[in-house]
Amino acid sequence: MGKEYNGVIQLKLHFNLFPGGKPKALTMSYDDGQKHDVRLAGIFDKYGIKGTFHLNSSTLNTPGFLSDDDVRGIARHHEISAHSVTHPFLDTLPLPMVINELLEDRRRLETLVDYPVRGMSYPYGVYSRAIIPPLQSVGIEYSRTVISTRQFDVPPDFMEWHPTCHHNEDMDQVWEQFTTRPSLQKFSLCYIWGHSYEFEQDNNWELIESFCRKAGGHPDIWYATNLEIMDYVTAVRSLKMSADHTVIRNPSATGVWVSVDNKPVCIDGGSTYYYKN
Ligand SMILES: [Zn+2]
Repeated sequence: MGKEYNGVIQLKLHFNLFPGGKPKALTMSYDDGQKHDVRLAGIFDKYGIKGTFHLNSSTLNTPGFLSDDDVRGIARHHEISAHSVTHPFLDTLPLPMVINELLEDRRRLETLVDYPVRGMSYPYGVYSRAIIPPLQSVGIEYSRTVISTRQFDVPPDFMEWHPTCHHNEDMDQVWEQFTTRPSLQKFSLCYIWGHSYEFEQDNNWELIESFCRKAGGHPDIWYATNLEIMDYVTAVRSLKMSADHTVIRNPSATGVWVSVDNKPVCIDGGSTYYYKN
């Protein structure tokens, strides 16, 4: 229950819940579009885990890389996202070339999926502040770096989305920390990235198989693509509230969950919640 204090209702309102009122989320992010992505996506599917595959369109249908049909198959359960046409160091290119690398990558990938491709990961993890506005100007809304945080926060700026860790960085210990930590008054997201060819090179497919076996099927975890996470968090951030926080309007098309006095409350897209204590 909220408490009266000098005429202001002090309700406990927190933005820490994912769809269904779930307190935690997991997303996976894999780069470069080698053929091994098909096997990796199959492992994700087996355990109900969702991921995002960042692809370089110039490699599609070349030896060792995904075919158009592979991409369509992966896209049934996962997000297809950009990684530039030719995998350059984007921070060294003239801006018109940066723009072309991502606009053309989107255009090519969008012939294979039925939605706008709106995200990317930076090739080699390299970026500069100067390239972010040009990328946004061609429809890129998020981009993943390779800076491991070992934390479970959602980024303040999705154009600098730092992952929790690479799958070789003691992922099992990270998972233990993630699942055993108490729920906090903020979002709790575990974000793991890598390349599927590393499992082949390192001969350790069992690493990801055992992780997914352990990580899948938790009723309190939302399994989502990078884009689903961004869209959901953006919808929560776009809530409009009265000054005393007792009237909450959700102007987005996405239903969102908030914690009111430690209870999950769903506010449907386009609806308004009125707090009554
Ligand atoms: Zn790459």
